[in-house]
Amino acid sequence: MLNIVLFGPPGAGKGTQSEKLIDKYQLVHLSTGDILRGEIAAGTALGLEAKKLMDAGSLVPDEVVIGMISSKLDQNKGAKGFIFDGFPRTAAQAESLDKMLKDKNTSITKMLALEVNNDELTKRLLIRGKNSGRADDQNEEIIRNRINEYNNKTAPLKNYYSAQGKFQSIQGIGTVDEIFESLCKNIDAGKQIA
Ligand code: ADP
Repeated sequence: MLNIVLFGPPGAGKGTQSEKLIDKYQLVHLSTGDILRGEIAAGTALGLEAKKLMDAGSLVPDEVVIGMISSKLDQNKGAKGFIFDGFPRTAAQAESLDKMLKDKNTSITKMLALEVNNDELTKRLLIRGKNSGRADDQNEEIIRNRINEYNNKTAPLKNYYSAQGKFQSIQGIGTVDEIFESLCKNIDAGKQIA
């Protein structure tokens, strides 16, 4: 299986690149942000609870997102592989993901981290806020909180995957196609070794 963690701060382009990667490699896209927004749209209890945290730019509790990913893995038993987008975001999530995959006799192939500086991120998110209407993209204070959450809780996961020899940094500034090409080069290089 090909199991990729697509990593990077809010606004790094994970969603855009995931769409292209799932097409090319026929993977299942698991975005915890999309799943949570689906719960909000459906008006579920989980969605209502998550919305408050998401609108403030804070993370939702680990057990909630871990449970969501676990059921998605069970629902996609025949998959060729997965792109994890926006998950894991904490050490507890990364450890749970490793356990869940191990139970299925598979593991993370690689973590590809899109690198984009803070000024560019804020600019992109404010533009997305105007176009998408996402509440958490609307003001700079919420965006700052999301970037802080990322720096404090999520960025340290680079070390977690580095220690497993799976971390790869990717330049996240350039055209969508240029970035896609560097991601693919990396994935294909790994395949030749495996
Ligand atoms: P972003 O563009 O900020 O990367 P996402 O769509 O991935 O946005 O996530 C939006 C919000 O959903 C996050 O700010 C957070 O509140 C919540 N969320 C998504 N994934 C997770 C996760 N793995 N753990 C905790 N909270 C999450």
